[in-house]
Amino acid sequence: MSGDRTYETVIGLEVHAHLLTETKIFCGCENRFGAPPNSLVCPVCLGMPGVLPVLNEQAVELAIRAGLAFECTIHERSIFARKNYFYPDLPKGYQISQFEEPICEGGRVPLPDGSEVALIRIHLEEDAGKSFHPENGGDHSFVDLNRCGVPLIEIVSTPTIRSPDMAYDFLVSLKQILEFTGISDCNMEEGSLRCDANVSLRPAGEINLGTKTELKNLNSFRAVRDGLKVEIARQEKVLRSGGEIVQETLLWDAAAQKVVTMRTKEESHDYRYFPEPDLPPLILTAERLEAARSQLPELPVGMRIRFAEAYGLREYDAAVLTGSAELARFFEETVAHFPDPNQAANFVLGPFLRLMKEKNLGWADLPITPARLAGLLDLLAEGSISAASARNVLESMAATGRDAARLTESLGLTQISDDGAIRSVVREVLDGNAPQVAEYLAGKEKVFGFLVGQVMKATRGKGNPKVVTPIMKEELAGRAGKKRG
Ligand SMILES: [Zn+2]
Repeated sequence: MSGDRTYETVIGLEVHAHLLTETKIFCGCENRFGAPPNSLVCPVCLGMPGVLPVLNEQAVELAIRAGLAFECTIHERSIFARKNYFYPDLPKGYQISQFEEPICEGGRVPLPDGSEVALIRIHLEEDAGKSFHPENGGDHSFVDLNRCGVPLIEIVSTPTIRSPDMAYDFLVSLKQILEFTGISDCNMEEGSLRCDANVSLRPAGEINLGTKTELKNLNSFRAVRDGLKVEIARQEKVLRSGGEIVQETLLWDAAAQKVVTMRTKEESHDYRYFPEPDLPPLILTAERLEAARSQLPELPVGMRIRFAEAYGLREYDAAVLTGSAELARFFEETVAHFPDPNQAANFVLGPFLRLMKEKNLGWADLPITPARLAGLLDLLAEGSISAASARNVLESMAATGRDAARLTESLGLTQISDDGAIRSVVREVLDGNAPQVAEYLAGKEKVFGFLVGQVMKATRGKGNPKVVTPIMKEELAGRAGKKRG
C-alpha cells in the first residue's frame, strides 16, 4: 500500500546569524573573529560567579532592524530566558536566550519567484564558545571562549518550505537581506551564519505532520540543499518499506554525502527554560521603533526595482547587480563617475566579475576602485583602447592598483585614432593587397573584413576600428573611381 503513495516534504529552517556589533551582547569584550583563542574574554562572558550581564543596545538595535526588514511584529516587551545545559564550551552552564516572549514574531522572507516563506519568530541570544581539536593536539580537546557572548539572532521559519531548492532560495534571500541591512556579515566559513533544518514527510493530502528529523552541521547553502535531498530520500525509502521514522538529530557528512545519527529523542535536551533573573524585561518605546524604521537601509527587492528604473537596466542585470550588497555599492559608485549605466553594467557583469572569480579577489582589499574602473570605461567609450585591451588593463589594475590611463600608456595599448596615421597604414595595406582590392571592387564585399584585418595586423591590434572602417571605405571608393576613370 504505502509503496504507491506520493509524499509531501515539510521543511523548517532555523538560522543563527551573528550580529555586527562592536562588542559582545552582555559585556564589553570585542566581538571579532580570528583573534588568538581566549584573548577576547572577561569575567562576564567566562561565567564567573557574582558577575551581572548588561545588555548591549547595539544588539537590540540590529534585532529591531531584522524585525523591520523581515516585516515581523516587534514586541514592545520581551523577556530574556535561561537555556540550561552542560557543555565544555559553555562555562556558565546556561545560555541567555529568549523563549516564551521573543522580540519579534511573524514576518516573511521573499523568494525570487515572488512567493514568500512565513517566519515564526526572531529572537536574541548569546553564542557559546567553541571546542576544537588541532592536529598537533594529540588526544586533547581545546576550548576557545572568544565566541562566548557573541550576539546573534535566531530566525525560525514556519514548516512551509516544500523542497531542498526552496530551502536554498530562502537562505539566499535571507542572507541578502541581512547583508544589505548591515545586520550580519553572514560569513558561513567563520560561523557567523549557521543553519539547522527540520524535515519530515507526510502522505500528500495529509494535514498532520510526520515524524521529523533535525539536520545539523550544514556548513554551506549547498550543504543544506544536498543534505536535505539525501535525508528526504532516506525517509521516503523507510516509509515506502512500511517502516517508521525515528525522531533524531542527524549530522550531515558532506564528504561522504550521507547523514549520521548524532542523538535520538531519548538523549535530547530538556533545557529547563526560565526567565533570566539578572535582566529586566526588554522594553522598546514607540519612538525607538519609529526611529529604527526611518533608518532602515534599502532592501534588496526595492533596490532591484530602483536599479532597473533609475538606470534603465534590464531586469536580469538589475537582479544580478543587486545580488550582493558589495556589488550593488560598487556599481552605484562606478556610475557616479561614468555616465552610461548600461555600458558600466555590461563591463561590471562581464570582464570585471569574471576577473574577480578567476583571480579569487575579495571586495575588502580590491585594488580596482569604482573611480579607477570608471576611468577605464571612459577610455573604452572614447575609443582610446579596444575591448580586448580594456580587459588587459583591468587585469593589470587588479595586480597594481594603478589608474587606467597610466596603465594603458605603460602597456603600450593606446589605440591609434589619428586619421593621418590610420590613412597611411590603410593605403599601404591596399597597395600591398592588389588582388584582394580588385576582388572587392568586382563586388566581393566579404574581402572588406580581410583588408581591415590586415590594417589591425599592421597596427598590432591598436588601430581604432571606429576610425579604420570609414577610412578604408573612403580609400576603396577612391580606387573604384580611379579604376573607372
Ligand atoms: Zn566578556
